[in-house]
Amino acid sequence: MKDLAAQLATTMKQRHWNERYQKLLTQALKDPEVQQFLQDHQLQNNQNAVLAGSAAIYEFVQAKKTLTLATGYQPRLLWVNQAIHVSYEPDAAELRRQQKVVFQQKFKTLAMASDVRQADLDDYARGVNERQASYMAAVRFVIDYAKAPKTFLPGLYLSGPFGVGKTYLLSAIAKELVQQQVEVLLVHFPTLAVQMKNAINDNSVLTKIDQIKAVPILMLDDIGADALSSWVRDEVLGVILQYRLQEKLPTFFSSNFSMKDLEAHLTVNQRGDQEPIKAARIMERIRFLAREVVVSGPDRRFN
Ligand code: ADP
Ligand code: MG
Repeated sequence: MKDLAAQLATTMKQRHWNERYQKLLTQALKDPEVQQFLQDHQLQNNQNAVLAGSAAIYEFVQAKKTLTLATGYQPRLLWVNQAIHVSYEPDAAELRRQQKVVFQQKFKTLAMASDVRQADLDDYARGVNERQASYMAAVRFVIDYAKAPKTFLPGLYLSGPFGVGKTYLLSAIAKELVQQQVEVLLVHFPTLAVQMKNAINDNSVLTKIDQIKAVPILMLDDIGADALSSWVRDEVLGVILQYRLQEKLPTFFSSNFSMKDLEAHLTVNQRGDQEPIKAARIMERIRFLAREVVVSGPDRRFN
């Protein structure tokens, strides 16, 4: 390395390089990472390459000093097409930050508790035998969807009592999909129903439905938790499901009702009228879009 510095000094003098610049380059060449780089690429004796890359080398050493941790980027020397370049690459913390942003952009929720983002598929099954079937169904979906995202795959209809982890499992599936760059929207359905009724006042029902219906993976949480008006059932739920059926978009549900009991629930509207045909039409769509999986096990709410 000493040799190279000395040789370069001579060459720079011969070429009448600015003295200050000579000093800066000589200084930069002493940097241990620069020396390692030159060694790694066998450039110790390649004066021409080093002179041609002197601006990059100098910039690299400067950037190391001036880029603080806060920027999240690290300079790196590269040897590309027979020339030295500097590139700026995100460090580990910056990569984590960027992944988090992508995660937040891809994993959308409506009226869900913020802890849904912490759900994890591996944690879901741990230690509870009753969860094996729903866990396997979830894993199956994630794997099959990754293999062929363009072909229609039915989602899951998770049924079971309060507290067994249905919402948790939906969130855990969402997280897996989002990590594969798939956009997921997880919606608390009873809240959506209320928001839709309010949207009538400012004429934004259709816009709101449009925003929801076309997302690649839609999850409707807690369907059947409240009595539905005929309007929400047919003009909101029915319209969303019809679109997803036509476009063959996977859709997930969670409910305290089995599919059979949900049908009975949807049959009676808020005013107490019996509307079996309307309910059957909704159920037909749900059965096409998702397979029922019963979630059982202990109530997880109090531990
Ligand atoms: P459900 O939707 O079936 O009523 P939740 O998914 O809301 O049940 O689960 C009830 C509570 O237990 C929630 O606070 C949830 O975060 C927690 N929970 C469920 N499954 C797990 C798990 N595998 N690990 C940790 N917490 C869990
Ligand atoms: Mg729930």
